[in-house]
Formats: sequence, C-alpha cells, structure tokens
Amino acid sequence: MPPDTPETPGTPGTVWFVGAGPGDPELITIKGQKLLAQAGAVLFAGSLVDRAATEYAPDDCEIRDSKDMTLEDMTEWLVSRARQHQTVVRLQTGDPALYGALIEMARPLDAAGVPWRVVPGVSSAMASMAAAGESMTLPEVTQSVILTRVEGRTPMPEGEDLAALAAHRTTLCIFLSITLLHKVEAALREAGWPEDAPMLVVHKASWPGEELIIRGTLADIKQRCREAGVVSQAMIVASPTLGARHWETLARSKLYDPTFTHRFRKANA
Ligand code: SAH
Repeated sequence: MPPDTPETPGTPGTVWFVGAGPGDPELITIKGQKLLAQAGAVLFAGSLVDRAATEYAPDDCEIRDSKDMTLEDMTEWLVSRARQHQTVVRLQTGDPALYGALIEMARPLDAAGVPWRVVPGVSSAMASMAAAGESMTLPEVTQSVILTRVEGRTPMPEGEDLAALAAHRTTLCIFLSITLLHKVEAALREAGWPEDAPMLVVHKASWPGEELIIRGTLADIKQRCREAGVVSQAMIVASPTLGARHWETLARSKLYDPTFTHRFRKANA
C-alpha cells in the first residue's frame, strides 16, 4: 500500500470524487474500491450511500458522514484532509456527475490548489432498469434517454419542463421527484401520453433486501406507490420500452440480425 502522506511535504494529496453506485456495495467500480482501500479520509453522502461502501476503507481511515454539513463545511474538510493525506475520497451516490454538486465542491478545491479527479459510478437510473429487467432503448421504439427531474425547490431552466421533454416519447428517467409524482403525471398527460402508458418506480434499487419494484400505468402508478409506502429514494421511469419482454412482436437489433453484415460478421446468405 502506498504511504498515506503527500509525496512531497507541502504538496496536497488528491481528492477523488468516487461514484459509490446505487447502494449495493458490490456495485462500486474496482477503481473506486482500490481508492477507498488506500484513503486516509472519506467523506460520504450519508443519506443515500449505503454505509457498507465504507467497509472498503482501512481501519485507521477517518470516515465522516456529510449529511449535516454545508457545502462550505465539506470543502473545508476536503481541503484540510488533502493537506494531511495523499488520497482523500468524496463518496457520492450513483454517478458523481448527476445531481451531485460536483462542480460546486470542486471549484473551491481548484481555488485552494488541491488536485481532484472523478471516478464514475453506476447511476441509479441504470440500476433501476437492471432491477426491473428493462431496456432503456429498443430498435424502432426509442433510441434516446432523457435523465431529468421535475421542478421542486431547484428551478428548471427554460425549455426543460417535463411536458416539453416528454413530447419526444423517449425513455424518461426522473430523479428526485417521487414526492412530486402528481407533477410527473400532469406533465405526461400534457404531452399526450395515454392513461395506460406503462410506468415503473424503483425504490432503493440494488439495496440488498430493500429494493422495491412497482409497476403501473400513468393512471395508477401514484396509487400503487402510496400503497407500497414509497416516499423517498426512488427512480421514476416512463418509457415506451417498458414491458417489452412480453410483447408479441419486436423489431430486431441490426447488430445481431443474421441478414445484416457488419465489421465482425458477414450476413448469412
Ligand atoms: N448521482 C445519483 C443521483 C443523486 S440524486 C445517481 O447517479 O444515481 C438522488 C436521487 O437519485 C433520488 O431522489 C432518486 O431519484 C435517485 N436514487 C438514488 N439512489 C437510488 C436508488 N438506489 N434507487 C432508486 N433511486 C435512487
């Protein structure tokens, strides 16, 4: 294991923003796990990252939950720890680039001359589709995915209201919005989605023993979520691909079509 002090005295260590994945500690990347194993200090997002993810850190590592900290507290903590340790980890839920305040946290590090890097993670959007055995894209159905949220206390920039995005009829993965499901429904209706449009809500995707998969339609998903008691930590998916494993007909992916030639395979005659 490399020494845990900056190589040259006076040179700060590196702050690594590591995607912890959606909850299952086995869904962190190998690179993220290795960095945790050599970290002198770890700041984790307590509300969503399963504490188990910190099980990879060494015994003498300083581990701090950030749930009661302001942005200023966090950056101060990261800067001071980078002056003591070669490897400091900020463990983020899912992927750090999605709703993770990454840039807000990184800019003060730049200002303090502390180097920082990012290790991507499995987003809860991916984990939710995996849990349900669904695909975000399907040939001739949709080839695009929109990752978004509805307006809560954070305002939505112009042109990004959900009704406008939903008009594309592509896969919508809606974060941070389970308590605003009524707004999601209103937006989908405004965009002309039918009442029987399939919808999926996954609560705590990938969390061992806690994952809940709720299927429904635009007409009844809110009721189903209420019955299941799901009020937090949930991904809402609206997509024309949902349920495709049970469809009678399905367009084929060209890549695996026997009549299609590509770089690695000639078509069957
Ligand atoms: N960076 C994270 C998202 C953070 S925002 C990522 O890439 O997944 C927090 C929102 O993510 C929650 O409101 C919820 O919508 C979603 N979320 C995070 N973890 C989740 C999980 N295990 N299951 C379902 N949704 C989750």
